[in-house]
Amino acid sequence: MDSRMIGILGGGQLGRMLLEAANRRNIRVAVLDKKGSPAKQINATNPGVEGSFADPQAIRKLASHCDVLTVEIEHVDTYVLEKLENESKSQGKKLEIHPSWQAIRTIQDKYLQKMTLLEGKIDISRSIAVPTASEMELRKIGSQLRYPFMLKARTGAYDGRGNYAVKSEKDIEPALDALKDRPLYAEEWVNFTMELAVMVVKTEDKADTSSWEMSTVSYPTVETIHEDSICKLVYAPARQISNETDQRAQRLARKAIASFKGKGIFGVEMFLLKDDSILVNEIAPRPHNSGHYTIESCRLSQYDLHLQAILGRPIPAKATALLRPAIMLNILGGDDPKSFLQLASAADAAGAKVHLYGKGDATKGRKMGHLTMLGNNMDELEDDVEPLIRLADKIRG
Ligand code: ATP
Ligand code: MG
Ligand code: MG
Repeated sequence: MDSRMIGILGGGQLGRMLLEAANRRNIRVAVLDKKGSPAKQINATNPGVEGSFADPQAIRKLASHCDVLTVEIEHVDTYVLEKLENESKSQGKKLEIHPSWQAIRTIQDKYLQKMTLLEGKIDISRSIAVPTASEMELRKIGSQLRYPFMLKARTGAYDGRGNYAVKSEKDIEPALDALKDRPLYAEEWVNFTMELAVMVVKTEDKADTSSWEMSTVSYPTVETIHEDSICKLVYAPARQISNETDQRAQRLARKAIASFKGKGIFGVEMFLLKDDSILVNEIAPRPHNSGHYTIESCRLSQYDLHLQAILGRPIPAKATALLRPAIMLNILGGDDPKSFLQLASAADAAGAKVHLYGKGDATKGRKMGHLTMLGNNMDELEDDVEPLIRLADKIRG
């Protein structure tokens, strides 16, 4: 269908599911990551590059035989991506990078990301930079934001590893200790009633908030439930929100993504407040855990549409429509390295769609797979999934 070679920086589960979508279409993909990583396991057509997505030399090696580069993780070296783009332009070649290195660079620093959203007039929780990371500075911030507030690492964060809830002045010292040597910022605590997420596909390269209606397409609003800052459950569609709230969340997510340069899929995490207002929590410049349900539940999945967008192909009408309700439950590691397999077996037996990522033995809290249960309505689905949630809780301990 397309002879272009796509290079993916990162070969985790998101890369693996992107490969599944590419394989069905005979799209050629090369993966940069460690040998045997989840995505590489299912790529028999290309050995890819062995190394790290943060290593400039390894990224150059990948780029040397690719037409389009994309990412499945934001913690990549963006400076080499910038150089590669400039070199390819000056040589009259056409290496495309989606999303842009500018978008990845901004988003990988959560504080810069927040400031960009503010410039685009997107509502966020009040955020303050913490340049000196001293106790005195944090006490001052405590009096500005009040307690509790969230201290967050600006870079390298995932699954809540990088966040510390500062409940009182007493927590300042342990918080600084837990996040030492990392650049920090502080965020006002949000008393949300629900966490929402919307997957957005950006189809135009340029960053322009005024053209969000032309340049973005969104999936329906889903509800996410986090435990210990790790996504546990996704309800598609979100339970008990009005059609108006769903539409407003989708509009907000699309406007937020329109301020970033580059094509492809983005995840937008949001907080719904008591007064029905919505704040953006954070953005991911890649496929996202909250969008796994789209594989079975929507006409085309987040992975399908990422490929369509980065290859410059049209997004079909109704591609993002939710065809049937779904609940997604993450399969996380417990204390026992193999206990997560019990949940996978139970999910199989219960008729859920099971996805295991090929990561071998588990460590506690690691994402080992997920399951998606499909149904006719949310009430029925909740009953069907309840025993699996109980088992997941038991496994995690
Ligand atoms: P991800 O794996 O989604 O990238 P992350 O490590 O970047 O996670 P955040 O999204 O910043 O972490 O936060 C994780 C979770 O912590 C949120 O989904 C939310 O439940 C909670 N949280 C984050 N910020 C706040 C806040 N300001 N107030 C209250 N709760 C928060
Ligand atoms: Mg994050
Ligand atoms: Mg998050």
